[in-house]
Amino acid sequence: MPDPSRLRDGVTVPVDNMEETCDWCGFVYDLGPSDRSASAIADGASQMADLIVGATDAAARRVDDTWSPLEYACHLRDVLLVQRERVLLARREDAPLIVPMGRDERADHDGYAAQDRADVAVQLTQAGKLLANVLGRLGPSDWDRTVQYNYPEPAERSLRWLAVHTHHEVTHHLLDVTSQLDP
Ligand SMILES: [Zn+2]
Repeated sequence: MPDPSRLRDGVTVPVDNMEETCDWCGFVYDLGPSDRSASAIADGASQMADLIVGATDAAARRVDDTWSPLEYACHLRDVLLVQRERVLLARREDAPLIVPMGRDERADHDGYAAQDRADVAVQLTQAGKLLANVLGRLGPSDWDRTVQYNYPEPAERSLRWLAVHTHHEVTHHLLDVTSQLDP
């Protein structure tokens, strides 16, 4: 385990809490096989893309304050692109402080709700492949490089954790979408 004394000012949680489980989708953070996250991320992104293409009502919100399937797909696309940049940043800088992606502001600024679902499906699939490619190029020691992450709480996280966390994002938002599309 990494030495918690490496934590910096304002970072309150040890590197890589290995016992996290999501109450909503049941995802368990298992950092052992994190190098397998790349293919799981690409597969999940492709799976969501197929769902969006097949759903003629993907742009409609079922509940006013909950994103539509299309909006979730746009969000996941952007998560994958942002995570890719963070992995690349962590390879050239030591423990960089990452900038929040602006989850909610981005949905407005980028106009998620008005985007073409066929375009989004292509972009989402490609975003999964782009991140998977970068993860697939990490060597054994690269997985231990870190970023100062800000979600769900400030913590120094390894790329091993970042990959598993992104796999969780994919799994979680797939459930967000399928729970809306299923009859
Ligand atoms: Zn989840």
